[in-house]
Amino acid sequence: MQNVVTQVPDATGHFGPYGGMFVPETLMAPLHELTVEYEKAKADPAFRSELKFLLEEYAGRPTPLYLADRMTEKLGGAKVYLKREDLLHTGAHKINNALGQVLLARRMGKKRIIAETGAGQHGVATATVAARFGLECVVYMGAVDMERQALNVTRMRLLGATVVAVTAGQQTLKEAVNEAMRDWVTNVRSTHYILGSALGSHPYPLMVRDFHRVIGDEARRQILEREERLPDVLMACVGGGSNAIGLFYPFLEDKGVRCIGVEAGGYGILAGKHAARFQGGTLGVLQGARTFILQDGNGQIMNTHSISAGLDYAAVGPEHAWLRDEGRVEYNYCTDDDALKAFQFLSKTEGIIPAMESAHAIAGAIELAPTLKSDQIIIVCLSGRGDKDVQQVAQVLGI
Ligand SMILES: *Cc1c(COP(=O)(O)O)cnc(C)c1O
Repeated sequence: MQNVVTQVPDATGHFGPYGGMFVPETLMAPLHELTVEYEKAKADPAFRSELKFLLEEYAGRPTPLYLADRMTEKLGGAKVYLKREDLLHTGAHKINNALGQVLLARRMGKKRIIAETGAGQHGVATATVAARFGLECVVYMGAVDMERQALNVTRMRLLGATVVAVTAGQQTLKEAVNEAMRDWVTNVRSTHYILGSALGSHPYPLMVRDFHRVIGDEARRQILEREERLPDVLMACVGGGSNAIGLFYPFLEDKGVRCIGVEAGGYGILAGKHAARFQGGTLGVLQGARTFILQDGNGQIMNTHSISAGLDYAAVGPEHAWLRDEGRVEYNYCTDDDALKAFQFLSKTEGIIPAMESAHAIAGAIELAPTLKSDQIIIVCLSGRGDKDVQQVAQVLGI
């Protein structure tokens, strides 16, 4: 019997009531073109083998599935494995999607690449693939994010990209997406927009999921080799939701595998300063898709807060809203304080400095592992490395 949970989206990009194409009329034609071109590419063995080659030889796949045995021992419960996306070229999972989309852009004859970025990891991944293929690259980034992720701004510039500071509104990811969309509407003939998460209008949530499912496909193969069984729990942080859906998707039909997404709890849900869309978010439309959004009673987007720029966004990817409704994936959250503790814990226990985003997933495992038995297995997606966060953490900790 087919399991409907994985049979989404439909041809119009709907995951149940979520997703869709809520964009200005001028973008409908280019989005349809992108959908058609993507479907063709997906079926083309030459496209698939070039992408596979780049993922392996350029980006460093497959990434290890590492048994964190000191962490496991300290927590005293389930065995914890880390899927090491932090070891990829440019330091996070983002390169999986950037490589896929740059190949698509080239197929479509686009000479110019644009992107939005929050923590700067997607901007760096995009600037990297643009350099690799000799394409012009413009990255939009909130001015506040540019300040807290200065290292990544420098990296993008070194890679030849133009980084445009966005000073509207909260000066973070949402405003950067607005500017990128404005640019795309104006320059759509020459330009491909490499969106960085499983967000926005169809076909992006589908395409981005497909480009990241390599995380879960590898993890599934690796754990079967290593343990001769499937894991009990998968854990990943959820910003837009790309690393999470990449890990979860290949396991969705395995009903015995619990999937848990961890959102950014910021200063706490009661304090109202967070980015946990499933805690107090409501159904709405933002930047191309219908999904769970942090908005006020008039539909105005609320200010969000997270210690990690990569999770600091008011909307969640539409497929996650669907998987939550279906009861297939659970979502909880972790506060800034707990993420900071997890950041230090992993650094000192395993000698791995995680991205602050990934530290949210680590915090989830720290909480859950001791409640499970020693023959149970958790796989945590270590979505990125923490070099970019070191300066901010040093400031907070006063070290
Ligand atoms: C961007 C980013 C995230 C959040 O994005 P998702 O689309 O939710 O995966 C998480 N971890 C790292 C390291 C990132 O760079």
